Amino acid sequence: MPEVIPISAPQFGLEAEELVLQAIRSGRVAQGPLVEQFESQCAQMAGVNHAIAVSNGTVSLEAALAVLGVGPGDEVITTPFTFAATLNSVLTTGATVRFADIRDDFTIDPESIRALINSKTKALIPVHLYGLCADMDAISEIARSHSLAIVEDAAQAHGARIADKAAGSWGVGSFSFYATKNIAAGEGGCLTTNDDELAQKFRIYRNQGMAQRYQYVMVGRNLRMTELQAALAIPQMRQLEQINAQRNQNATKLNALLDSTPRVTTPTIPQGRTHVWHQYTILLDEGLDRHKAVDMLGELGVIAGIYYPGLAWRHQPYELSDLVIKDETPKAEDISNRCLSLPVHQHLTADQVERVAEAVTEVVAKL
Ligand SMILES: *Cc1c(COP(=O)(O)O)cnc(C)c1O
Repeated sequence: MPEVIPISAPQFGLEAEELVLQAIRSGRVAQGPLVEQFESQCAQMAGVNHAIAVSNGTVSLEAALAVLGVGPGDEVITTPFTFAATLNSVLTTGATVRFADIRDDFTIDPESIRALINSKTKALIPVHLYGLCADMDAISEIARSHSLAIVEDAAQAHGARIADKAAGSWGVGSFSFYATKNIAAGEGGCLTTNDDELAQKFRIYRNQGMAQRYQYVMVGRNLRMTELQAALAIPQMRQLEQINAQRNQNATKLNALLDSTPRVTTPTIPQGRTHVWHQYTILLDEGLDRHKAVDMLGELGVIAGIYYPGLAWRHQPYELSDLVIKDETPKAEDISNRCLSLPVHQHLTADQVERVAEAVTEVVAKL
């Protein structure tokens, strides 16, 4: 059996161990000084004034939408090529979700957004899928001209940029620190914004709607992060630049090794964007059986994944829901049927990156 190359490999070093111990020994494990330190790292990552840590990336999206006033009767436009959390967060508010198509780079197409806007449209949720920012200049312009809120689903895009502007700085940013994300806290989330008033509302909403102890100014929730989660994430946040650089080096090498492989399309990166490679995703030519490819790669010790198999709403609960508008998105449909993600994480050795590419070439030739 060949050595197995996993698609994600969370590792926590000595520093994280020490911080966790420190929190346990201090007796303070609910939100405290480590969470505060983590928040300032998040604000720095996004280049904004405020970051508000929450318990995961799904409630982070929910909090953003709820505090922005999205609710029943409103429409929110997002991409159908995303994880269910993006849709679920909209549906939790009671709003209607609908879908713009994507571009070759896998992110939402601003022109397709424009075609869906009507008097009910309230917010846009571009997803920086796989670690690549959506076309935020165009999307910001659309939002401005129609007075729409932007919530960036940056769950996969820690430190991603367009020129020198970072993910989470165009609208309200929403990050995830789930175990397999580029920065992992087991579970965790974070909101980012430059708006002082909004930041204050997020903090209040996170803490049962209390501005001060037992002074309730809105109906809130408990979305607080624990010190233990922050302890795991803080050392990785310090390493963010190196983690992203290593992932980029691995992706660049995969591109070079796979660019000329027949029946494989390597990822498209628009000019000026800094990709942080949460996933490295190729497209197989139409007619090739990617599930068989995943199995054959597995036999060679390369763990591949399909993110995501088909459009996000093509599951019974969404198909039955009146709050999900099934907009036609042919490009997303096609891409979601042909995508395949390969290991690209920062713990891969140069040899392992080569093995991944060789395995893909070998397997695709046999499909
Ligand atoms: C992981 C993820 C989320 C949800 O984050 P959790 O922390 O798992 O709740 C939302 N959107 C996208 C695109 C994700 O990848």
